[in-house]
Amino acid sequence: MSRPIIVIGAGAAGIIAAWKAASEGATVLLIEKTDRIGTKILISGGGKCNITHAGSINHVLSAFRKNEANFIRPSCYRFTNEDIIDMLTDRGLRVYTRDDGRIFPVDQTAKDVVAILQAYLREANVHIKYNSPVEDIVAPGGRIQGVKVGGEMIPTDKVILCAGGSSYPKSGTTGDGYVWAKNLGHTIVPITAALAPVELLVKGERMKAGLALRNIILKAKLNGKEIARWQNDLLFTHRGVSGPTVLGITREIAERWQEGRHTLEVDFFPKQNFDQLLESANKFKSSNPNRLFRHFLDHEIPSAIVPVLLDSVDISLDTKNQYVSKKQINLLVQTLKGWEIGEVIEVLFDKGEVVAGGISLDEVDPQTMRSKVVKGLYLAGEVLDIAGPVGGYNLQAAWSTGFVAGETAAHD
Ligand SMILES: Cc1cc2nc3c(=O)[nH]c(=O)nc-3n(C[C@H](O)[C@H](O)[C@H](O)COP(=O)(O)OP(=O)(O)OC[C@H]3O[C@@H](n4cnc5c(N)ncnc54)[C@H](O)[C@@H]3O)c2cc1C
Repeated sequence: MSRPIIVIGAGAAGIIAAWKAASEGATVLLIEKTDRIGTKILISGGGKCNITHAGSINHVLSAFRKNEANFIRPSCYRFTNEDIIDMLTDRGLRVYTRDDGRIFPVDQTAKDVVAILQAYLREANVHIKYNSPVEDIVAPGGRIQGVKVGGEMIPTDKVILCAGGSSYPKSGTTGDGYVWAKNLGHTIVPITAALAPVELLVKGERMKAGLALRNIILKAKLNGKEIARWQNDLLFTHRGVSGPTVLGITREIAERWQEGRHTLEVDFFPKQNFDQLLESANKFKSSNPNRLFRHFLDHEIPSAIVPVLLDSVDISLDTKNQYVSKKQINLLVQTLKGWEIGEVIEVLFDKGEVVAGGISLDEVDPQTMRSKVVKGLYLAGEVLDIAGPVGGYNLQAAWSTGFVAGETAAHD
């Protein structure tokens, strides 16, 4: 084999990078630590794989922080959400778009996505080395010379680094890319958890694991001041909470972890402001003096939580409307708009869907994915300082940056 382009990591970014570079005529060696490609794609979206997000590229970019959006803009235009979907549907994958814009395979299995990608790699003649953890990238004087695997050096003058982040370490991602990049002179923006479940310290009794709250707003507060909010569902776990709302606010908590006490609050009624909800509660009270007040919460709040909420304002389950005071109603509405569910004692880094932080975007050319620090090094995917929200955004960032890295490396 002539000196190949070496792609490290067969995740979303590495697969597309390797396929693109090989399709452009380059000899490509894809080196993967585990025994398969796409390990994280297989567990993505709960095994269903939320491939990308629908809508215009500007719409997709608007989900990212500004600096991240600016960085991935050129690559997302170069290889769009439609491009990845076309690539997969051309080979028979059927996809559908959920109301919230998330795109999934109709048959709900990530295996089909990975099988198609595997076929693309085969047809493009990408050589794949499995079970081969790369040990180091060798670049004396800031110029790529090779990659160390199994104690031996494989010579090359181009490396595309797609080793991913460091959450879910059992899937192969143990942050190796950060270490090499740092040793080669890159700046690593501190790594924090993102899109992760949390453990909570609760005052009273814990809610039963598995209990779900639908379409609520979850607010994260730092020393009592709101720092993030997310609207969707929440799931109680044995020691804390998870679900889309929780994943939506953990990056902000993790980034400001040292600054104080983080608490979580639920707004059960996102569609009504305080005054509107107060009016509804007062109307309910005056509608029928003999009706049990607790029925005000019917259909809105899971029955397991109703006693807890009422108890917090000294209303019992058998209290009739006529015996509920204005003050109690006022307090209850306050609770319904901001029920503190506990203090965050840990953001579960390992269980995060992604990590925030990584190789500084200032040191990578967004048009080409070339490192500005090391000649012959290209970077793509989660190893970079990019972390989008839940919704197919992170895979899209990996597909797009991988495509551009592969294309550039093939032509340099
Ligand atoms: C549970 C879960 C669910 C998710 N669901 C979704 C979703 O539905 N939609 C979405 O958009 N995003 C989702 N994500 C995030 C998404 O999977 C990642 O953003 C994406 O996989 C990043 O792609 P990547 O190619 O940069 O890294 P990865 O996919 O993590 O790939 C990196 C690869 O590098 C390999 N590697 C690491 N070190 C070495 C080494 N030393 N030598 C050789 N190989 C190495 C790893 O084994 C791995 O295969 C999810 C993540 C998780 C954990």
